[in-house]
Amino acid sequence: MNSDGEKCESCNNASCPAKHQRPDESREAFLERRAIAERLCRIRHKILVLSGKGGVGKSTVAVNLALCLSQAGRRVGLLDVDIHGPSIPRLLRLEGSPVQATGKGIMPVEAGMMKVMSIGFLLDRRETAVIWRGPMKMNLIRQFLKDVEWGDLDYLVIDSPPGTGDEPLSVCQLIEDADGAVVVTTPQELALDDVRKSVTFCRSLELPVLGVIENMSGLVCPRCGERIDVFKRGGGKRLAEEMGVPFLGEIPVDLGVMAGGDCGRPVVVAERDSSAAQRFCDIAKALDERLEGAGTTVSKA
Ligand code: ADP
Repeated sequence: MNSDGEKCESCNNASCPAKHQRPDESREAFLERRAIAERLCRIRHKILVLSGKGGVGKSTVAVNLALCLSQAGRRVGLLDVDIHGPSIPRLLRLEGSPVQATGKGIMPVEAGMMKVMSIGFLLDRRETAVIWRGPMKMNLIRQFLKDVEWGDLDYLVIDSPPGTGDEPLSVCQLIEDADGAVVVTTPQELALDDVRKSVTFCRSLELPVLGVIENMSGLVCPRCGERIDVFKRGGGKRLAEEMGVPFLGEIPVDLGVMAGGDCGRPVVVAERDSSAAQRFCDIAKALDERLEGAGTTVSKA
């Protein structure tokens, strides 16, 4: 064991990869990797929310799933590392929240029982475009993972940058022991092509795919009740079957989901009994049962 490795006091697990410097790793890279592992090892489950492209509802899904887990009594953190479109502060009406740094690290912002950290908290105006070059982005993501003081959590839900480029790649690589990824798509072929890439991306990184969610799957007319499949329907399920990964469920195009995003009160809080909220909670429950084991679901507060 590298002598530095013995200083990691997070756990007694001698086989933890964070205790050993890899042969091809610089000392600096090793210490950084270990610092991230020390922070994250107090979090039992890490779920990455990915999408093949922007605008499919990835952040909306991340927020609502995290809130459902929190409502079910789990200790939940939500981390927004979508550097170019950090929408979590807005989705939770937390824009402008001051971020405090203490001797322990950067303290997450509290949203009810949930802890939240986003690059958006560090930008002073909503319109500010983040134009950073690759290495700066990587450093920021690394710093987030290394410095945020989450404490003990059951779940960290990570809203990752869209696509399969450098940013989601570093997020997946830096979180070495993630439980897996939830891939969000919309039903039309164009989006599905990107999801195929996302699933292949996860496989190449040996990151389990926890499942695919088909968002914006049909619209029920509020006047006549007729269902209109605006972006088609069922493509997410077919794709999941084709790729041999679980299908977690469909979320319809829903005015409550959209309004909840705009006003900062997500649908699972604002309209908890609506069918869209129920869909999110069913998916969160299925994930919780899968990761925690059936029968351990905490009852609603
Ligand atoms: P992404 O993170 O993939 O870029 P967002 O979560 O920011 O996407 O969602 C993009 C827009 O679509 C937001 O205005 C959001 O409120 C809306 N939206 C997402 N899912 C739904 C849905 N199921 N029904 C209605 N609007 C939705």
